[in-house]
Amino acid sequence: MITFLSGGTGTPKLLRGMQKVMDRHEIAVIVNTAEDVWISGNHISPDVDTVMYLFAGILNTDTWWGIRSDTFTTHEEVKNLGIDEYIGIGDKDRAVHIARGEMLRNGMRLTNVTKILCERYGVRETVLPMTDTEVTTQVKTDIGYIDYQEYWVRARGKIDIHEVVRSFNEPPVATPEALEAIEASDAVVIGPSNPITSILPILTCEGIKDAIKGKIVIAVSPFIGDGPVSGPAAALMKAADYEPNSIGTFNCYGGLTDVFVQDIRDPVAVSHSVRFDTLMVDEEKSIALAKDILGLIETCR
Ligand code: GDP
Repeated sequence: MITFLSGGTGTPKLLRGMQKVMDRHEIAVIVNTAEDVWISGNHISPDVDTVMYLFAGILNTDTWWGIRSDTFTTHEEVKNLGIDEYIGIGDKDRAVHIARGEMLRNGMRLTNVTKILCERYGVRETVLPMTDTEVTTQVKTDIGYIDYQEYWVRARGKIDIHEVVRSFNEPPVATPEALEAIEASDAVVIGPSNPITSILPILTCEGIKDAIKGKIVIAVSPFIGDGPVSGPAAALMKAADYEPNSIGTFNCYGGLTDVFVQDIRDPVAVSHSVRFDTLMVDEEKSIALAKDILGLIETCR
């Protein structure tokens, strides 16, 4: 078994390859939930949804969110009724958010809700939210603190940010299921996800760091040079006082990694790193990187 730590874009691209070259039952994914929000009364867990839809074979892999060929009838009508729904939510996607919200309101743990949804979609991999309690990520802007989704989706990342904060009613604790998955794994792979908004929230859940310490830990950089492959990671790294590159990513993981993987094109040198082609522009590239990482794990054993 291998446990992956994942956000909603970079690591899912790697998982797309992994599911083709591994026994799918041997894949466990601990997924970031610090970007979760309630919108129009329903519960969106963007990274959990992306990972679940990927494994269900229904993910829109043009955007890496939402369900392929979904329609937006409800979203358009909700907006016509004057509701400021700033995320374009597809109709089938919304059904998942309605179901999740309903189950959570009935007192179910997010882990169990995710398990039920994954079963309904025939997912064979194990998809595990990092924690069962709510965590919110906010960024400090010139007009005060706003939710991360407001910054990235509504403002399209086009405003300056000065700080990244996570808020919660109780400090997030890793679920027993997440810790058991790590315990049962030969290796932990920190995928090429946003270090600040996807990976750090997982690593700071109580119990995760201790659990992965005894394992082979491989981290893949989401940066090539001074820019991420996509998304707002550079601005977030700067706001969190890390260099926006592979060195900053390596430092951000605080010595937890046994092997750090950088792209073959990355001009930034992290000492003792391993170089692979990490640019997963299509499924073949994802499969190739997945094989490289499995080979690496073999040599680390
Ligand atoms: P989010 O939850 O949607 O922000 O997605 P993630 O945190 O999972 O992933 C975002 C990160 O994925 C960005 O920082 C990108 O640089 C990185 N990324 C996206 N595609 C690739 C790729 O093909 N290769 C690598 N190395 N990183 C990628």
